[in-house]
Amino acid sequence: EGTLAVRARVAPLGADHVLVLIEDQTDARRVDAIRRDFVANVSHELKTPVGALRLLAEAVQDASDDPEAVVRFAGRMQHESLRLSHLVQELIDLSRLESDDPLKGAAAVGIDAVVDAAVDRTLELAAAKRIEISSGGEHGLKVWGSEVQLVMAVGNLIENAVNYSPERTRVEVTVRRARDLAEITVTDQGIGISGAELERIFERFYRVDPARSRVTGGTGLGLSIVKHIAQNHGGDVRVRSTEGSGSTFTLRLPLLTSASGAGRRLPEEE
Ligand code: ADP
Repeated sequence: EGTLAVRARVAPLGADHVLVLIEDQTDARRVDAIRRDFVANVSHELKTPVGALRLLAEAVQDASDDPEAVVRFAGRMQHESLRLSHLVQELIDLSRLESDDPLKGAAAVGIDAVVDAAVDRTLELAAAKRIEISSGGEHGLKVWGSEVQLVMAVGNLIENAVNYSPERTRVEVTVRRARDLAEITVTDQGIGISGAELERIFERFYRVDPARSRVTGGTGLGLSIVKHIAQNHGGDVRVRSTEGSGSTFTLRLPLLTSASGAGRRLPEEE
């Protein structure tokens, strides 16, 4: 921050002239640093469940004459291995989303189908906490992009809404048209997020409360995936939240209209 990385090359041009080429390498350095951080984070996140599995395997060996303990340890091994495969799957998703052509095979996508599929995917999780998911709003809106990615994005938002809410609350998914944008909002009555944390929750691996999100199997990657998907579609994702009373996440996507076609970008922030 605040420093400039430059590379200069000097070549003589005749007797009394030199050619000086100055190249700004600030961005390249920053990308390198982000990549290094990412690899360090991934290694750390992978080491935790792998370490737990190793300890649990040892515990099983030591408890071979206590069948109840063996069953208990096996259950925890199952939990840790699920966490591990969840994490690996999210890393694969994230790297796909960052590939050069993230919207290969894009097509017109109906928002109704996206919301239905995303709600479907999360019903079981919600039922376990007696949380009711309702969806409504405008029908028939279409955007240009990848249905698989959009279901993943909306699904992640609903999954978070359920994970960070107490039992017997409601999660609402609403579709709205705002000029040339489709807005999908996911509102919960959950724990909310403080102002200071709001800035950071879209960062990879960022979790407000790592201990809590470990219980829910959270990896801290969900919202960075949502943000990537929004950007791939020329849209964005925003959040409003009050600590203790709930959060609203809004995914905004450029609508497909006969005049627009693919690849439209959102206008600059108003
Ligand atoms: P995780 O896998 O931990 O859920 P995410 O990237 O999806 O990771 O979210 C990052 C963090 O943002 C979460 O750990 C949680 O602290 C916070 N968060 C996300 N969604 C909500 C929500 N609906 N209500 C409260 N906190 C949330």
